[in-house]
Amino acid sequence: MTTLLLGTLPLLALTVLPAPDAVFQDQKQDTVRRNDAQEPDVTNDAPNQLRTVVLDAGHGGKDPGCLGRKTRESRVVLKLVLELGRKIKQEMPKIRVIYTRSSDHFVELAERSAIANRNRADLFISIHCNASPSSSRVYGTETYTMGLHKTQGNLDVAKRENSVILKEDNYQQTYKGFNPNSPLAHIMLANYQHAFMGSSINFAEKVERSFRSSADRKSNGVKQAGFVVLWRTTMPSVLIEAGYLTNPTEEVYLMSEEGQEEIASAIYKAFAQYKQEIEAGG
Ligand SMILES: [Zn+2]
Repeated sequence: MTTLLLGTLPLLALTVLPAPDAVFQDQKQDTVRRNDAQEPDVTNDAPNQLRTVVLDAGHGGKDPGCLGRKTRESRVVLKLVLELGRKIKQEMPKIRVIYTRSSDHFVELAERSAIANRNRADLFISIHCNASPSSSRVYGTETYTMGLHKTQGNLDVAKRENSVILKEDNYQQTYKGFNPNSPLAHIMLANYQHAFMGSSINFAEKVERSFRSSADRKSNGVKQAGFVVLWRTTMPSVLIEAGYLTNPTEEVYLMSEEGQEEIASAIYKAFAQYKQEIEAGG
């Protein structure tokens, strides 16, 4: 088994996961601009300033994401993202808020990180809802950063979220044969060093703390796994699982205006703290 793995890994490194630079070049050529992403050319010449945030509502269009009894992930996360963006714009008018989607349409995972990279975003926040196929009793929030999963549960979340690439037309070409069903491919993906790991974890911790303290959520903590949507981002980036749609009580909460407002406010508070901290010099 060990010999087989050692023999296979270098091959996978070459065939499954190309150098990020090479991918990024491909990505630039392949991507098409979306109507609802405003993308003026800017340069960030003050590294301690948080100027641009990209808000990514997971799924959309032909991809509903996970399903609750009454709603679907794509619908809930769009509302959460729009509410979060509204708060940021209202409280911090100088911040550029860019959405990867602001309506119900499909956006490829590669395009989501490309929007953030093209706009030289300072922070990338991807918002999702969770699902537990085995039990409707599981509930609570989790915030992920790019890294190696420690449990099968964390791997399962990444596999489910990454499997949306199967709905993309040229996914084998775009992701160089990445197989969203393969645990080994996820280990390889997670092993790419993310230069912004520390800042990503810092923001993720603030989000989970804020869920606990200001939205009275059960926080399942900050976790790591290999997410395709975070892989190519060139800035601190997190993926928030705002709760389980497979838990009936949490689904009702996430569908309600009050619940959405609380979740968005909690993320906003974490964002404001993080901004203040980095602008004070780290
Ligand atoms: Zn999702």
